[in-house]
Amino acid sequence: MPNTPPSLFNTLTRRVEPLQPLAPPRVTLYTCGPTVWNYAHIGNFRTFLFEDLLRRWLERSGYDVFHIMNLTDVDDRTIKAARQAGKKLTAHTAPFTKAFFEDRDYLRIKPAHVYTPATEYMPQMIALVSKLLERGVAYKGEDGSVYFAIAKFPTYGRLSQLDRREIKVGARVASDEYAKGDPSDFAVWKKADAEDEAVGAAWDAPFGRGRPGWHLECSAMSLSEIAQCCGVQTLDIHAGGIDLIFPHHENEIAQSEGATGQQFSRHWVHGEFLNVRGTKMSKRHGNFLTARDLREQGIDAAALRLLFFQTHYRQSVDFTDEALEAATEGVGRLGEFHARLAESGKRETGDGPLGGLSVKLEQDVATALNDDLNAPRAVAVLFEFVRAANRELDKPEPPRSVARALEAFQQVAGKELLDVLPTRRAVDPATASWIDERIAARAQARKSKDFKAADAIRAELAAQGIDIEDTPLGTKWKAR
Ligand SMILES: [Zn+2]
Repeated sequence: MPNTPPSLFNTLTRRVEPLQPLAPPRVTLYTCGPTVWNYAHIGNFRTFLFEDLLRRWLERSGYDVFHIMNLTDVDDRTIKAARQAGKKLTAHTAPFTKAFFEDRDYLRIKPAHVYTPATEYMPQMIALVSKLLERGVAYKGEDGSVYFAIAKFPTYGRLSQLDRREIKVGARVASDEYAKGDPSDFAVWKKADAEDEAVGAAWDAPFGRGRPGWHLECSAMSLSEIAQCCGVQTLDIHAGGIDLIFPHHENEIAQSEGATGQQFSRHWVHGEFLNVRGTKMSKRHGNFLTARDLREQGIDAAALRLLFFQTHYRQSVDFTDEALEAATEGVGRLGEFHARLAESGKRETGDGPLGGLSVKLEQDVATALNDDLNAPRAVAVLFEFVRAANRELDKPEPPRSVARALEAFQQVAGKELLDVLPTRRAVDPATASWIDERIAARAQARKSKDFKAADAIRAELAAQGIDIEDTPLGTKWKAR
């Protein structure tokens, strides 16, 4: 068990609080997953990346994390998209679920232990609605749908700090998404209409044929999974994007606690937005930037991870070409340093200045991440370490404890924690400038329509293990 438990901002109390799991070292973590109506926006992945770091840090701290993520494969948006595509719901969502997993792997996000597609949890959802009806906190409206009666749940609005005086008694909202200024009874089960039937999004239930409301899905799936794994009705951490606080998470609390009478989640953690600004990146998959746009343009996932971790998860990030370029450069420096350490004698052990620096790196990173997952500070500490260690390696007498430094560096920057080492082989500065010179010569040849010369340069680079690709941002290269 960790000596110092990590502290995290809790949206429920608006304070940074030490994590207090119900039964340590186990931590149950539920993160709201993608709605698979389309490819996930890069902003969605910013949330999934901060959750990935949270999970990695908890594991590194000695916790036994059970991570659940849902896949929203039935809701207003997926039904509408399936209808527009002229497909059945599952035929429409399946490729986007597959794409989500591919994008997750590209960004090196650790897979959740369980993924719960909503359509596979209908019995649990129906049971939850029955329970809410039984307990009198839900009722059937004259339109045939089942609504949650927010007036019957006294703590409704606590998470989003809603003024309860604004609650409009008797007002109802049927759509999955609505504004905070419109707190009304919301649908937990929607009576099937012709569109639902057409795409195959309707199920029989004792209270009428229909489909679950989006908010109900997360309550039913998370409660089902934690009951099964751990015999509990309370999550340790529930995380998601800040836009989910109202109404989604507020409603999840109402439905879950309304059914179990137990606290739904001890800690609520929310990540801020990503703003895509003035970027020249092409958007091939719709009108927003997706992870696969970035992958297809040869962007190293390490650069994206670094870019996101350079900002605290509770602050918004501007995604720009300049920020991406700077992060790519940073990743390059980490790669060069890694190569240098690895070459400086892997078997070198014993005490030396690098040993002291390594201990400090690990301690300072731990302090930063324990403090509300302060990744930007951890990143700064990492680059300070690289500078200090490079100075030691520059000295004529080779410093001892290189092996210790390599171990500490790999633990922080490598697979284990930040996972921000480059995918590409690092090349030395002389080779890099040769590559730049050859790419410039090729551009010149293409400009003067000498395609034979341009192809020859491509082949010359390929012979040296350098692949090039022409993108809207210029010619990119990758070392094999
Ligand atoms: Zn959710």
